Amino acid sequence: MIIATNRHAQVNVNLEAIKQNVKRQIESFNTDVDVFGVVKANGYGHGMVPVAQAILQAGAKGLCVAMIDEALELRQQGILCPILVLGIQDSSLAPLAVEYDISLPVGNLNWLKQATTYLKSTQQLKIHLAVDSGMGRIGFMDASQMPEIESFLTNHQTAFEVEGLFTHFATADEADDSYFNYQVSRFNAVKDKFNLKPKYIHMTNSATSLFHHNIHGNMVRIGIGLYGLNPSSSPSAKDLDLPYDLSPALSLTSELVFVKEITPEMGVSYGATYKAEKSQWIGTIPVGYADGWSRKMQGFKVKVGDEYCPIVGRVCMDQFMVKLSKPYDVGTRVTLISDNPNEPNSVTAVANYIDTIHYEVICGLTPRLKRVYHNSIESE
Ligand SMILES: *Cc1c(COP(=O)(O)O)cnc(C)c1O
Repeated sequence: MIIATNRHAQVNVNLEAIKQNVKRQIESFNTDVDVFGVVKANGYGHGMVPVAQAILQAGAKGLCVAMIDEALELRQQGILCPILVLGIQDSSLAPLAVEYDISLPVGNLNWLKQATTYLKSTQQLKIHLAVDSGMGRIGFMDASQMPEIESFLTNHQTAFEVEGLFTHFATADEADDSYFNYQVSRFNAVKDKFNLKPKYIHMTNSATSLFHHNIHGNMVRIGIGLYGLNPSSSPSAKDLDLPYDLSPALSLTSELVFVKEITPEMGVSYGATYKAEKSQWIGTIPVGYADGWSRKMQGFKVKVGDEYCPIVGRVCMDQFMVKLSKPYDVGTRVTLISDNPNEPNSVTAVANYIDTIHYEVICGLTPRLKRVYHNSIESE
């Protein structure tokens, strides 16, 4: 996709905020824990490579991505740290992973058997065994499977280095911790049955690190928290309070590219769903659903200059319109998403408005929007 560098619409990323968030996470663990920053999905929309570099500068020991292509991109950009892929990859990719020193997750014996048919005799793949303690996504189901895995791995030591054993929690962001505790006990049962001592035991995502701080191995996988957002952020339930402040790093800004006054008989946008009761100033902003700015944002208020103005008419693919109280100048700054968590157009407010989570809003911002990096708190 083409990055639209010539239009006035951009994702602003405050790398200093990300570094601060990394440092706060690292400091929150009093024992030796290696923080791996999760940079999948284009660094949660912030831009994978600049974010990865900032995270590592701030003291993270490694990175996690969802798929091998993301890991290869990091390597191609000269990033040398340990990289763990979190999703199951085709077993035929095992040799490629070895070539680029990328660690892969494994969730069943069959995958290991297949991988041995692809690996050359000189190649050893770093693997992390996934345990499905209750997420229902990937991994070994229970402790009874471990002896068989262990004997296979013992017989194939030249092909596999067992670098990690891990699980993932489904409800770490919720106030009721009964299912969380169920998962902990299931994971511990597997861990206790497993005699090959991997370098890393890990189960911590951002929510676990923030809300279940005493439950961690010696490695943690932190995503949303590094971007300064509270993982407990459901549109339908009350959020858990953060134990310490995090600084959101992303804002989405644009400007008015067209301003005009419409008469009452004229509608605005597809379907002419908005009609003014009297003459009305309308501004046009060059951002649309092809940028990840959902059609469901109709009615939401974005900040034009110092005023919050409602989106009127349907959001188009590349543009949307707002109702203005006066004839603002073309070029007036518009903040669609604020990096201030207390503003009515924070990313969480945007997500709540369209009944989703902020994760989806930020990683849905498409590559067409240019990313602009700052190193200090941006003033709006
Ligand atoms: C995405 C992901 C994470 C990071 O989750 P956050 O909630 O963003 O911290 C950690 N572990 C796994 C397995 C993941 O898929």
